[in-house]
Amino acid sequence: MNDEEWTQGLAETIEANWRSDFIRLVTTGEASTAFLKHVDSCQKCSDAITEAYNRGVEKLQALGKMIAEGKHQG
Ligand SMILES: [Zn+2]
Repeated sequence: MNDEEWTQGLAETIEANWRSDFIRLVTTGEASTAFLKHVDSCQKCSDAITEAYNRGVEKLQALGKMIAEGKHQG
């Protein structure tokens, strides 16, 4: 499975309306404020980002680490 397929599969574990934001975050490291706010209160999205971080997606190192450690604030 390549990274793209893996990211798509992971995106399918979260809400449909946040999938494009999630994929953008994983592929570019950029996230909208609205998505970050949502992640703060959504276990599913938080878990998906943590999983991407654990896979070693480089772009996610800083943000993924914060979320994985539960230190992300707004
Ligand atoms: Zn969510």
